[in-house]
Formats: sequence, structure tokens, C-alpha cells
Amino acid sequence: MTNAWTIEDSEDLYGVKKWGAGYFSIGENGNIQVAPNHRMPEITIDMAEVIEEMKAEGIQFPAVIRFHDILRSQVEILNETFLETIETAGYEGKYVGVYPIKVNQMREVVEEILDAGEPYNYGLEAGSKPELMAVMAYNDNPNALTILNGYKDEDYLTMALLGRHLQRKMIVVVEKFSELEMLVRLAKKFKVDPMIGLRSKMMVRSTGKWSSSSGDRAKFGLSIAEIVNAIEYLKENDMLHCAKLLHFHIGSQLSDIRKIKEAVTEGARLYAKLVQMGVPLEYLDIGGGLGIDYDGSSTTTDSSRNYSTEEYVADVVYGVKQICDLEGVNHPNIVSESGRAITAHHSLVVTNVVGEVSLTGTKFDISAEEGEHVLLSNMRELVTAQEMHPQERYNDAAAYKQSAYEAFKLGILSIIDMAKIDTMYWQILSDIHNALDDETRQIQELDDLEDSLASQYLANFSIFQSAADTWAIGQLLPIIPLHRLNEKPEVRCSIADITCDSDGKIGKYIESNQISENIPMHKLRKGEEYTIGMFLTGAYQDVMGDMHNLFGRLTEVHIFSHDDEPGDFYIEEIVPGHSAEKVLETMQYNTDYMAKVVKKSIDREIRKGNLAPREGVRWTDFYERCLAGTTYLR
Ligand SMILES: *Cc1c(COP(=O)(O)O)cnc(C)c1O
Repeated sequence: MTNAWTIEDSEDLYGVKKWGAGYFSIGENGNIQVAPNHRMPEITIDMAEVIEEMKAEGIQFPAVIRFHDILRSQVEILNETFLETIETAGYEGKYVGVYPIKVNQMREVVEEILDAGEPYNYGLEAGSKPELMAVMAYNDNPNALTILNGYKDEDYLTMALLGRHLQRKMIVVVEKFSELEMLVRLAKKFKVDPMIGLRSKMMVRSTGKWSSSSGDRAKFGLSIAEIVNAIEYLKENDMLHCAKLLHFHIGSQLSDIRKIKEAVTEGARLYAKLVQMGVPLEYLDIGGGLGIDYDGSSTTTDSSRNYSTEEYVADVVYGVKQICDLEGVNHPNIVSESGRAITAHHSLVVTNVVGEVSLTGTKFDISAEEGEHVLLSNMRELVTAQEMHPQERYNDAAAYKQSAYEAFKLGILSIIDMAKIDTMYWQILSDIHNALDDETRQIQELDDLEDSLASQYLANFSIFQSAADTWAIGQLLPIIPLHRLNEKPEVRCSIADITCDSDGKIGKYIESNQISENIPMHKLRKGEEYTIGMFLTGAYQDVMGDMHNLFGRLTEVHIFSHDDEPGDFYIEEIVPGHSAEKVLETMQYNTDYMAKVVKKSIDREIRKGNLAPREGVRWTDFYERCLAGTTYLR
């Protein structure tokens, strides 16, 4: 039976190619394969080999794996798509994109993106003061832009003016009128011309989780009246020549291409009208929002997008061109701030399943005893009543179970009786579910049995640390086994983490093009590790984690592809995760003190003769070793 399962069946089930964007696929050997370089698809890396090498290096699960080649590929694809489209369209402006570092601020990520983007003068975007401090140090390409968004104080604006002194193309995007007044005052004080951008509050309403980023009630941006006032204000202060850019951002993960078209039309029209008023704008910044097809459905659901990158770029380039041609205005240089689209694919979390919580798997002797209560014998009859209509059998089982609980509360049934009732009940349900056919599956209540019977696989990680959005906003992230994909997955289960929080579980899975509450995985084998991967965690998830249950950051493994290496890859760097000590210290604990207190208690027991001295020393060492060690399960 198991032999009949093929990797194509796994592909149909898990949809790897659909969300994998050419980077991930299932190999003939049933392992996940990674082709991280879009220019060299023949270089493929077997995830099982990566994990083997990690083991050899002594790395424990969970760990983040970063494929730097995927980051580079995404930067190249976006820039080249713009270059090619601009060429074909006869568009007269340039594309000068920036990467918004809030999406993943890891230094190694930012460095890799800048390096891959250098030939295209790809720049950076900052949205806060600390981010500005980082981009100031890292983006020193005089031809690349630095875009400054977010609310600003004097220090933030002064830092931007320092950037101008250093000949950087640093553009301050004004989100609020008062920022403009502050900027004008500081520019006069420090005697340097700022480059000014104006962020427009857009009328188009995007859909999805971030729809409040646009419209009248948006938190950021200037209304049309405020923009006109800003122009007047700059004129009065003899600084109109500093107005260089018009900015908009209607939200992240835009799922519907029509909203993008509408926004481009609105933004380009506003740009053209401002230029006609004599504002010397050179750049139109279309913000972020380029989506990721997390669920692989190519639809307008929140976790997908109904367009390709080519389509997005074409709609932007041709859209701006058409309006500017109609209005008789020069084509602006186009800026975009794609973050999610650049980083989502490059990292994943790998971990292992450390246990199973199953309602049907409990072994308990249910054999009859003389003089047992009639509820038990009734329930036992149902266990073998395969000929009964499933609905009737289910109703009876549920009724007996309810009565049994009542009887237990009244002291009529014993605890052993209840254990038998419970065991039989789940056996019956599981039996009913296994025997459902096309007709009986139509009965909703019986079809729903699938969810109540599903096991929980306990995975060694914290959702709050590694996939905050799956919990906070119901984001879907593909989560699948990394091996055995040539075997039939026979256990329906959901994935729960090791935090002490009932919310610590994944509630959405991709199953055969649909969203399910649980998913088939393989039977766990004794003595064999079952490794799973949570994919597309490179945007936001990587850097959003919290300290829930004090788990802290994961160990990271940075991988480069190389065709001279065995397995076509090498581990370039290992960044150790947070130790227990480190996360405790962020919560103001003094771990030296803690170790001392524990040692004292151990010493006291030694003095009392309750512990052998040698044993006591071992316990002291053990406590200290755990402080220095991993927060996750070993
Ligand atoms: C968050 C943000 C972005 C990045 O958006 P993505 O959807 O990740 O591309 C770009 N610009 C601004 C102003 C943002 O706030």
C-alpha cells in the first residue's frame, strides 16, 4: 500500500512548487530540495544533507536556516524585471529601489541585499531612528537612495542632514506637516539642502490585513490640502527645489492586482499635477506591498496574491507612463520599497517532532468485568457494531459518554470505568471515521470527526518566537516534513509548540490547494528523528519574535551554494542562539546570584547528609550548564 505513494502525491498534498517560487521542490528521494540560485537552477541542495552537516557541527534544533543565494536571487529578479520592462516600454525614467530594513534587520541580511543590489544602485529604507543609524553606516553607495519614513524627531532629522553632508541621496519623507516645519528650521541651522519627499494619504483602499494603511483615517501621510500647503510653505522658505519625491504605501501583502493598478493611477496623477504646479519632483515612490503567495493558491486570499512579479512591474511602469504621457510630464524615476517579496523565501525554521498527543492512541485494557455497569457493556457493544449506520452509532456513543460522566460525578462509576469509557469512545469514533464513504461523508457532523480525531505533533520551537504572525494575524506559513515525502503520510495531525500556552499551535495548513485545520504527516518511528520545516519566515517573522516562556532567538545557519562543494553547499556561518542565561538576563535576573543560591541549597543538603558531596557537585554543575545552554529541548 505504502509503495503506491509517490512524490507527485506529496506535491499535490503540500503544494511545495506552488509556494516554493522555483526555490523549493520534492526530490526523487523524498527529501526537500533547494535550488537557491535563480541563474543556476541545476545547483540543488538536499535538505537532508544540510541537516546532517548541522548535526556534525553539533547544532541542535530548532534552528533558522538562511539561504543567502535566495536573497540575492530575489534582489536580482526584482531589479532586472524593472530594467527589462522599462526598456521594452520605452520608459524614460529609471528604477531605483530600496529595501525597507524593518522587514528583516539582521545585519547579514542587509549586507547581502546591498551587495547583490550594488549593480542596480539598490538602496535602503529606514522607518525609525535606530534603523536610520544602521542604514547610515551600511548604505554608502552615493548613487543609491536612502528613504526615511516613519515619525521623526529633531535627532532623526538632524541625522538625515548629516547624511546630506556626506553626499548621500537621503530623502526625508514627510509624514506629518509639523515634520516639514522642523526640517526647514534644521536645514537652515545646519546650512544644508535636504531632499524632501511627501507622503500622500491615498484614497484607494487596499484590501487584506493592512487595509488601514490607506484612506482618510490612515496613520501616515498628508491629505491633498496638506500637500498643497506644504508646497506653499516650501516656496515661502525658498526651498521648493528640495521637493524631490512623492511617496505612497497602501499596505503590505497586497493580494489584488486591481488595487495596485488603482493606486498607481492615483499616485501618478497626483505626481503629474504637482509637477505641472512647478514642483521639481524626480521620483515617484510606490511603497511596498508586493505580495507573497504563501498558500500557493494565486488568489486574493490574505495569504496569497493574484498576480506575478512581472505583472506587478508592468502595471507600475506602463501605468505611470500612460498618465505622465497624457499629462505631458516627464517620466519619474520609480522607487519601490519591497521588503516581504525580497526576504520571505530565504529563511526557514527547521525543527523536530518531540512527541505526539493523541486521543485515540492511548492503550488501556477495556475487557469486561463481572457485574460491570450497563453503560460499560452498552459502550462495548458499539465498539464492534460496524454494521450500524454511522450517524446512529456516533449518537449512541456520545450519549453513553455523557451519561457516564454524569454517573462518575455522582460516584456511581469508578475512575477505572471512566478510563475504559474514554478509550472505547475514541476507538468507536476513529472506527466510524475510517469507514466513512462518499455518502456518509456528506453528514457534516461525521465529516468533522477528522478534526476531533487529529493528533497533535509537538514540535521543538516556539510559535511566538519564530512565527508570530501565525498567532497574531492568522498568517499562513507552509509547514511540512523535510523527508519521507515518498511515503504516505498516515497520521492526521496539527503542530503544537513547546510553550505553555494553548495558543501555541499552528491552526492553518495548506492541504491539496485548500486551507485545513490539520494536515497528514508521517507516523513517528522509534529512534528516528522526524524533521519538519516552517517555510517563508524571512519577512517579519525572523525579527518579530518575543520572549514568551523565555525561549529566545534560535541558532542560525547561513548557507551558500557552491558547485565545487560536496552537496553543492557550505555552511558559511553559525550564529549561536540565546542561552537560558541571556534570556533570563533580559528580564533582569542575575544568573550568578541564581547559581549561588542553588549551590547554597545543595551544600546545605550535603551538610545534612542527604546528598553525597560528589553528587552535590554534579548537581551544581548541571544547573550551571543548563544556564549556559539552550532554552529549547535538547
Ligand atoms: C512596511 C513598509 C514597507 C514594506 O512593505 P512590504 O509589504 O513588506 O513590501 C514599505 N514601505 C513602508 C512605508 C512600510 O511601512
